[in-house]
Amino acid sequence: MYGYEILHEEIAESLIKNVRERTVQHAYIFEGEEGVGSLECAGLFAQTLVCEKDDTAPCTVCNACIMAKAETHPDIYFIKPIPGKKNITVDQIRTVVTDAYTKPYESGRKVYIIAYGDDMNEQAQNAFLKVLEEPPQYAVFIILAENYESLLATIRSRCTRVRFNPVTNAKIREYVKKHFPDETEKLEFLVRYSGGVAGNVEKILGAENFIPLRATAFDKLESLLSNRFLDAYVIADFVEENKDDADLILKFWQEFVRDIMLIQSECRELVQNGDFIDRLINISNRVPEKRIVRTQEQLLLAQKMRRRYVSLHTLCLRLAFSIKKK
Ligand SMILES: [Zn+2]
Repeated sequence: MYGYEILHEEIAESLIKNVRERTVQHAYIFEGEEGVGSLECAGLFAQTLVCEKDDTAPCTVCNACIMAKAETHPDIYFIKPIPGKKNITVDQIRTVVTDAYTKPYESGRKVYIIAYGDDMNEQAQNAFLKVLEEPPQYAVFIILAENYESLLATIRSRCTRVRFNPVTNAKIREYVKKHFPDETEKLEFLVRYSGGVAGNVEKILGAENFIPLRATAFDKLESLLSNRFLDAYVIADFVEENKDDADLILKFWQEFVRDIMLIQSECRELVQNGDFIDRLINISNRVPEKRIVRTQEQLLLAQKMRRRYVSLHTLCLRLAFSIKKK
């Protein structure tokens, strides 16, 4: 779409319509998992906002469009944590606020895209609030956030919320075929594990240890499902040791447990992890259905709580203990 990889066409079309009809808001929160497609959409929206043609933006051929696409437009700012820092700092935000009150250089607008906005601490968010309270009429702020609730209520109330949900399997299939034509053998595998998030496809293909990690995660399934409380520490330690892949591990377990539920409900033909079928059947014969269902519930909960917990270890202990409770 206009040279961008847009997976949420309806959202993009509606934002473009806002520009053409001059109903643009001052601030947006693009809410969605990293890699889901919100960043690309923010790029297209920013290009549309600075395009020289009002009614046909983004025209894709004017100077502004060309610079925006090349990420060299002087009125489009991309703010992200500086190398070595975990979050955007309050000083970075203060610079944005000061800069926002100076007029645009080239176009009629200034666009600020703020990555990982929900990771800003309270001090940075409060500094940002100042410009949201009295935004210059030419400024548009786009905050990218995975967790809407992590933003201050005072910020949320001044922004238009745009949700980017995971896309359908069919879209991910198309995406893989287009961008990774050599990986069609892994197609269904990638579709299953990406969870509707295109960015995860790259992550999976890039993770050299994906296959061995999946096998180890399967080995740890016994500890996850057992009723021995000490096994909770095995689980927490394992996830902590692989903390960069924690989300993937939770996803693996969800997939395995889902298969066990299918076997227990006599739907063996729907099992996805066919390479582990014998061991899956063995577990489904030994572990009571009630505990399997509880495990799936707790895995989903843990995934949701991921970003709220300071300690991954504590989160996983909580997960494993809740499966083992009587
Ligand atoms: Zn243009």
